[in-house]
Amino acid sequence: MKLPYAEPYKIKMVESIKRSTPEQRKKWIKEAHYNLFNLSSDKVYIDLLTDSGTGAMSDKQWGALMEADESYAGSQSFLKLKETVQKITGFKYFLPTHQGRAAENVLFSVLVKEGDIVPGNSHFDTTKGHIEFRKATAIDCTIDEAFDTENMHPFKGNIDLKKLQKVFDENPVEKIPFVIITITNNSSGGQPVSMENVKAVSKICKKNKVPLLFDSARFAENAYFVKMREKGYQKKSIKEIAKKMFSFGDGMTMSSKKDGLVNMGGFIALNDEEIFKKATVFNIMYEGFITYGGMSGRDMAALAVGLDEATEFDYLESRIKQVTYLGNKLIEYNVPVQHPIGGHAIFIDANKFVPTIPRDEYRAQALAIELYIIGGIRGVEIGTVLADRDPFTRKNRYPELELVRLAIPRRTYTHNHMEYIAAVLKNIYDSRAEAKSGYRIIDEAPIMRHFTVKFEKI
Ligand SMILES: *Cc1c(COP(=O)(O)O)cnc(C)c1O
Repeated sequence: MKLPYAEPYKIKMVESIKRSTPEQRKKWIKEAHYNLFNLSSDKVYIDLLTDSGTGAMSDKQWGALMEADESYAGSQSFLKLKETVQKITGFKYFLPTHQGRAAENVLFSVLVKEGDIVPGNSHFDTTKGHIEFRKATAIDCTIDEAFDTENMHPFKGNIDLKKLQKVFDENPVEKIPFVIITITNNSSGGQPVSMENVKAVSKICKKNKVPLLFDSARFAENAYFVKMREKGYQKKSIKEIAKKMFSFGDGMTMSSKKDGLVNMGGFIALNDEEIFKKATVFNIMYEGFITYGGMSGRDMAALAVGLDEATEFDYLESRIKQVTYLGNKLIEYNVPVQHPIGGHAIFIDANKFVPTIPRDEYRAQALAIELYIIGGIRGVEIGTVLADRDPFTRKNRYPELELVRLAIPRRTYTHNHMEYIAAVLKNIYDSRAEAKSGYRIIDEAPIMRHFTVKFEKI
């Protein structure tokens, strides 16, 4: 018999989670104006809102917390982290920030001006927010295969080189401050980008003398997929693959709350000294002195260990196989999910699941609410609500995909939780014909509305 995979760790401490009934949850979600971000966490049984900062640290990371150095300047924990970042990414310069969007804020303050154009592969919402806030435009150059949830392309995060070339052909190069590749491509389903694609994008960037940046939140998961799916990398270690990928770029922003295996933190890493110097000024203004940048010494210490653990094959295999296990269970139950299963989350295709709910009634949001009421499971809408309004016309932008994302926190839930989630979804799927109407927005913020938007039931 072929042996199944099993986790390369055992549990040393447990945290209780509260169960509740559908009747209680119906009342709670109404009080939260049907926005899952508004729920207090004790009203959630299994929290799949995000895999950001929700993972479990290892005993080694907790140990590192105790030994950390809280000096304002020149902290030993900073030096340790800097050394680890340089070892893993190969970039020369390093600036800690309090999380990923802070890294974007600092770096884009240097690089992005009004009227600029930033091509990339489905920019993450905070990335797009920081571009649009500066009155610049993010252009999505992701390959078309990414928008077909049945397509089995192994690297659906890839950039379409023709689309990218078109951006360069149609715009003065001074208007393009950089190209940004998100690894893995979060917004289009946790889908990886191939080494070959990065190499080709880097070539276009070099030809035009435009820097290539990585939005690296899940770079280790991306490296795992390269190892498993791309020819020539089977024998390479995750660390070798990650470093090679970064070698094609000029810098990166990082949300350490993902593949840093910590609950808070971020950083910028760069090769260009001039950009680094300018960024330090913004770092000091927005984040803190350059040897802590919004992080405690203990957080930096835990991150140094976390980055090392996150780039080990055994950890990544158990992480990604748990996500795949849930995905395969759902496929077995005929629930429409995005294929192939991505690295950090399952994406349920709401266009296929509840086509009976009109798009302007936020069908993916409606499905996410149902999942909460029936199972106490908190996912998140990745569809029209998240896509927000066009900054110029103020009309809803309807993305090609209406998804509900179930993000799996790292090293946190067990196989039984996966079984439970799959069963809840099967039950909802079996009664989907009854779903006819969704929700209407009654209040929203001018930018990044999904965090605070209020709905009422139609
Ligand atoms: C989470 C994330 C960010 C933003 O990072 P925060 O730490 O949440 O501020 C940026 N890009 C991607 C791809 C992310 O997943």
